[in-house]
Amino acid sequence: MSVPAVLTAIREAEAQAGRAPGSARLVAVTKGQDLPSIEAHVLAHGAFPLGEGRAQELRDKAALRPDLEWHYIGTLQRNKVKYLRPVTLVHGIEAAWQAEAIAQAAQGWGRAPDLLLQLHNGEAQKHGVDGADLPGVLRQVQATGLTVRGLMVMAPDAPEPDDQQLDAAAREARLLALFTDTARRAHDLGLSELSMGMSGDYPLAVRAGATLVRVGRSLFS
Ligand SMILES: *Cc1c(COP(=O)(O)O)cnc(C)c1O
Repeated sequence: MSVPAVLTAIREAEAQAGRAPGSARLVAVTKGQDLPSIEAHVLAHGAFPLGEGRAQELRDKAALRPDLEWHYIGTLQRNKVKYLRPVTLVHGIEAAWQAEAIAQAAQGWGRAPDLLLQLHNGEAQKHGVDGADLPGVLRQVQATGLTVRGLMVMAPDAPEPDDQQLDAAAREARLLALFTDTARRAHDLGLSELSMGMSGDYPLAVRAGATLVRVGRSLFS
């Protein structure tokens, strides 16, 4: 695949769902890719926001290309907050302390990123806020003065290859239910951005209302 192929698949999914063309944006996930590779595979096709999951790597690349739009999609530890200065959107906020630490650091930056809250996906050992806790965490995060734009969710890891073959339709139904539930929760909270969908499932996420799809592998393979 390539950026043009992924954009075509996004446009097809938008059309299937009766959505406006361009209502779902591609966030090119560039973790592990160096700048020449990003320029050749992504930027040659347009100015897409770039999603980075490792904070120091983000800092190093953004220092070379401060003109680009950088998003942070990784897990945020306290000692990594200082690297987020170039970032315009943080996708995976899962606790109020993270927003408080960003708000504090941002006082010295002169600008602050916007935030997405990560919804827990129901899988054990995974990150995110439980659905029942979302309204409370949203209020705490908004109290920092930062702007919460929406929700982010990650699909649970794929089952074993055998299960996947047996169970592709069931897996798709589960994923669609997760994405649809996330969209409904965002709507109920008055939030409009929905970051959901990766290389394996972004057309499904677009059909369920994703406004940002985080696609990595498919752009570089
Ligand atoms: C790596 C990553 C992606 C992209 O995954 P691909 O399978 O490479 O498309 C999306 N979201 C998050 C949070 C990631 O860490």
